[in-house]
Amino acid sequence: MTSSKVELPAEVKTDAAALMASLHLMPSPVPNPEIKYTKIFINNEWQASESGKVFPTYNPSSGEKICDVQEADQADVEKAVKAARAAFALGSPWRRMDASERGRLLGKLADLVERDSAYLATLESLDSGKPFLAALFVDLQGTIKTLRYYAGWADKIHGLTIPIDGEYFTMTRQEPIGVCGQIIPWNFPLMMMAWKLGPALCCGNTLVLKPAEQTPLTALYMASLVKEAGFPPGVVNILPGYGPTAGATIFHMGIDKVAFTGSAEVGKLIQEAAGRSNLKRVTLELGGKSPNIIFADADLDLAVEQAHQGVFFQQRVSAAGLKGLAVEESIYDEFVRRSVERAKRKVVGSPFDPTTEQGPQVTQEQRQRIMELIQSGVREGAKLECGGSVGAGKGFFVEPTVFSNVTDNMRFAKEEIFGPVQQILKFKTLEEAIERANDTDYGLVAAVFTNDLNKAMTVSTSVQAGTVWINCYNALSCQCPFGGFKMSGNGRELGEYGLKEYSEVKTITMKMTGKNS
Ligand code: NAP
Repeated sequence: MTSSKVELPAEVKTDAAALMASLHLMPSPVPNPEIKYTKIFINNEWQASESGKVFPTYNPSSGEKICDVQEADQADVEKAVKAARAAFALGSPWRRMDASERGRLLGKLADLVERDSAYLATLESLDSGKPFLAALFVDLQGTIKTLRYYAGWADKIHGLTIPIDGEYFTMTRQEPIGVCGQIIPWNFPLMMMAWKLGPALCCGNTLVLKPAEQTPLTALYMASLVKEAGFPPGVVNILPGYGPTAGATIFHMGIDKVAFTGSAEVGKLIQEAAGRSNLKRVTLELGGKSPNIIFADADLDLAVEQAHQGVFFQQRVSAAGLKGLAVEESIYDEFVRRSVERAKRKVVGSPFDPTTEQGPQVTQEQRQRIMELIQSGVREGAKLECGGSVGAGKGFFVEPTVFSNVTDNMRFAKEEIFGPVQQILKFKTLEEAIERANDTDYGLVAAVFTNDLNKAMTVSTSVQAGTVWINCYNALSCQCPFGGFKMSGNGRELGEYGLKEYSEVKTITMKMTGKNS
């Protein structure tokens, strides 16, 4: 780790980042990082795929291959589920382990991630294209905090005693569900992994996790830290591979619960598959069309910057990214002018340049999808204010793009754009803004910018979304539940609510010969 003075990009101005910058202690990326782990991780061992197949993972900044990774499919899934079932069997070291010890192991894992955070952030940037400092201060910090948060919960998950009628003594107990199948996307590979691992292990489950095919490297390195931390064999199994094959883990009868983050399209397949197999428990964290309502009385500088970050944060690959930025008519033109000016100042470039705010999109296919939606916006009459083209160089870059005169019925206003494209809509009244915000099948997050408490609370209580931010955006925290209304998902991750998704409640009733009080 080397020291240097760095002017932080706006999106990584966290407290930790500001402190390190002020102390001139900014960590640097690891030069030419060695890729140590490319095999399947089952039973705490590195294994080649049964089929002998591998798949490539690419550097989105250059389009060049980083390395080949062993490709798990059905046969490997069978092995992993067998290992996870054995690790979950009654009497196994994991089942006999004290809850406090489970917490200690999770805490140790967090410490190891922290120890290797410069390397992990480098690997994340290399594989996903996100800026190194964003990986370090957003993804790595989010990962470490989530693991520590759930480490603290492990020995604090209590049941109740319940005064039922008759001569009985009744209590409840929270028990682990069993083997969890977990599938994560490419946008926050390591952090999504921590959101899945933390609560599952805290509650005493075992798991089989499939990272996205585009970004398998940090998940595999994390597997090595799981082993180093001392988790028993079979508790955590990591299977890099493709969705329809390795992801088909979920159809396996040996899996008791599936947790999935990704598109609504695949989420539906998972729900159906769960219904067709053993009615496994399912939690889904899916996409969103997140509305952001900006009233004329808002602090305009704050609203412009936060709306900008809401859209452009990490190349807009956040499911919480703003999809419906609606600005009150009287400030619309000024808001557009300032937003365009802000987008034009956006520093796009190599994820390893400390001034970079926006890296490339994760794959050529993702970039192609974004460009098609941009072109559909132009065709349907939205006004392209800036950007709209692919960026310079060999990587999968897209220019920061802003559209005004966007209306609800345009295709690109309705479909999720997973890229750096800001669409600015106009509204006249509070009632209209709320009605339009709710006129979607999704409900992940929403935001409102105003200095009028009444408007803030009216919007917050009226919009159908799992999270509402007032005068801020992306204020996510591992202590708060996160998840969606409607088609944005099923269940909640994080916070105490996240524990409920990884445990079963058992009622134990004992007949008494006499009853005290
Ligand atoms: P995706 O295509 O649904 O992929 C997500 C994961 O599912 C990947 O690991 C993928 O494998 C796997 N998968 C694909 N098809 C599958 C199948 N038939 N069976 C089982 N698994 C399958 O989504 P994406 O395009 O990568 O990710 C972006 C989406 O995720 C967006 O819609 C975004 O809004 C959503 N998202 C939501 C949240 C949230 O918290 N609500 C957070 C992040 C992202 P491959 O790697 O082989 O494709």
